[in-house]
Amino acid sequence: MKLKIASFDFTCCEGCQLQLTNSESTLTDFLELLDIRNFREISSERLDDYDIALVEGSISREDEVERLLKIRKQAKVLVAFGTCACFGGVNSLKNSFPLDETVREVYGDMVIETLPVRRIRDIVKVDLSIPGCPVAKEEVERIMVSLATDSIPTLPKYPVCVECKQQLNTCLIELGEICLGPITRAGCNAVCPTGKTACLGCRGPAEELNMPAFLELVKERGLSLSDLQEKLAFYNAFEPLATDET
Ligand code: SF4
Ligand code: SF4
Ligand code: SF4
Repeated sequence: MKLKIASFDFTCCEGCQLQLTNSESTLTDFLELLDIRNFREISSERLDDYDIALVEGSISREDEVERLLKIRKQAKVLVAFGTCACFGGVNSLKNSFPLDETVREVYGDMVIETLPVRRIRDIVKVDLSIPGCPVAKEEVERIMVSLATDSIPTLPKYPVCVECKQQLNTCLIELGEICLGPITRAGCNAVCPTGKTACLGCRGPAEELNMPAFLELVKERGLSLSDLQEKLAFYNAFEPLATDET
């Protein structure tokens, strides 16, 4: 039986949905698994009977709340799809500033309806979260196969450093940069540090993380705790540091 699936975008860049259409080598096999009922980037179907809803983006308008509640009513499995949906993502940066000032700065005198950014789980029950900015297509494919075969989908519990070491990368912390790899959930194949860019933690906290040891390392290397605080806040995926030293 194919999975009856629909995909919906809220406040986001739609990069996660696009990611699914990206790898042409696996696309046809992937689509074999799915009965696409509603998925703007892939199909012209607009059907309301689906079992799995991929919900991409965070919530920042009242009409989005109503739309999300309707999707929750229909879906047997509601998936928070991507970092914006799971944590608020880059959109949540606006929550750090007074909303009125932000709107004025960006839109001038235009009348814009916007609310502080919320995660999908702040509004409805989420059955499954797939983090990533964007999501990793291989991981989504693996999870869809789990759903199609009635097995329990899992995410790696260990941190990005494990995958980074498998790539034989030189550690960026050794080079004096703050990298969130030691505390971030793996699953992206350490794509950023492999490209010589520090991990910003888009996949959120690893289950097996050791924050005290990570903080100790940052201090030992003389790296800035306020830079660390800034990086932790970028995707809204981590708790702020409970320290006066920042
Ligand atoms: S998680 Fe990243 S790629 Fe996905 S929709 Fe949000 S901003 Fe775009
Ligand atoms: S570069 Fe980052 S992800 Fe790679 S080993 Fe160092 S801290 Fe971990
Ligand atoms: S390395 Fe970090 S920021 Fe980059 S994709 Fe992986 S989890 Fe996200």
